[in-house]
Parts: sequence; structure tokens; C-alpha cells
Amino acid sequence: MSIAENIASIKSELGEYCKLVAVSKTKPIKDLQEAYDAGQRIFGENKVQELAEKHEVLPKDIQWHMIGHLQRNKVKYIAPFVSLIHAVDSLRLIKEINKQAAKHDRVIDCLLQVHIAEEDTKFGFDYEEVQNLIFGDELSTFNNIRITGLMGMATNTSNEEQVHKEFATLSDFVEDLKSKSLPQNINLKELSIGMSGDYKIALQNNSTLVRIGSSIFGARNYQ
Ligand SMILES: *Cc1c(COP(=O)(O)O)cnc(C)c1O
Repeated sequence: MSIAENIASIKSELGEYCKLVAVSKTKPIKDLQEAYDAGQRIFGENKVQELAEKHEVLPKDIQWHMIGHLQRNKVKYIAPFVSLIHAVDSLRLIKEINKQAAKHDRVIDCLLQVHIAEEDTKFGFDYEEVQNLIFGDELSTFNNIRITGLMGMATNTSNEEQVHKEFATLSDFVEDLKSKSLPQNINLKELSIGMSGDYKIALQNNSTLVRIGSSIFGARNYQ
């Protein structure tokens, strides 16, 4: 199937509340252009340099999402244009995003990455840290960032029940937070869960952003 057909097929499964982030990392510009021509406007990349280079040459109405681990010293390269940063995993990173966003007179939307997988190689806050951060004093002092939701990556396993449980726990956690009164720059409307292998399970657990790469563009040669 073509890139356009893959996008159409995935979009037909998403329902009203979930958006598709086309994860185009490692893929050539012509593949992204093909997705764009099929109507796709949200693209996700996991490397700052690649993201900046692709932004430079592709149409300006694309919303660029940074989905990978972000180093503080690289925030400045994407701050002028990035639309959403998915994997925010430390207060120091939040501070840097706020600082760089201020330089460009922008407010940058961010998702807090929650560590939900069994593997301890993956980045992210644990549940208690997210709670402390959200109800702590510090976040509300950052005028140039907005926390718009949470992001998680499930364990890389064929055990669907486990993946289901990890997504459901995260979804319940968000619902619980949303029922409380939150600081003004926090609005937890987005839940970024689901990749090619597990987005159907994510959709059953209130995903609002699925990050899909290989099911659109085909397998990657390297990560
Ligand atoms: C690569 C990547 C994806 C997409 O993975 P696929 O399995 O190709 O859909 C999603 N999220 C993150 C954070 C990624 O790095």
C-alpha cells in the first residue's frame, strides 16, 4: 500500500478525538511530501537536527512535534517553530524550554512523559513525580510553556494484556487529575499513547495522539 493509503486506513480507525502524528524519522523528504499531499499535517521526529532540516524545506503549515528525548542544549534549535514537545521528562528541561520560548515570544505546548513501561531504559517521570510537579509551585511561574497533557510508551512486548494495563493506568491517572483543580498553565487534554504496534490498544484507552511511523512509511533501516 502507498503512504496515502496507509494514512487513510489508519485515520479511518481513529475516531473523532484522536489525531495522527506521522512519525517520519529517518525517512526522506519525498516520503513526507507524499504524506503531506495526502492531507497529513502533523509530523513527529525524534532528532533535533533532522526535525530542523525537514522543517526548513517542507511547507510551513506543517505542525512539527518533537517526540524523542530532548537534550537541553538543543531546545534552542526547535524553539522558534516546534508545535508540541512530547517527551518532557525533567524540570530542568521545562526551564530551558520556557527560556527559549520566551526569546521567541512564544508559548510552547509540552507533554510530560510518564514512565509506564516495565523496562527501566525508557525516560520519564513516575506517577508521583508528575503529581508533585503539577501541584507544586514551580510550574505556574513559567509563562512561556503550557502543559497540555501526558505521554507514555508501553513495554515493548507481545503481551497485549500488559500493554492494555499500562495504558489504562495512565488514562485513569489523567482522568483523576482532570477532575481536580489545576494551575492555569496546565490543561491535560492530550494523551499521547500508541505506536504502530499498539495504537489499537491505545485507542481503547482514550488516546488523543497516536504516534505512528512504520505502519505509514514502512520499516526503518535504523532507529
Ligand atoms: C519511532 C517512534 C514512534 C513510532 O514508532 P513506530 O513503531 O514506527 O510506529 C513513536 N513514538 C516514539 C517516541 C518514537 O521514537
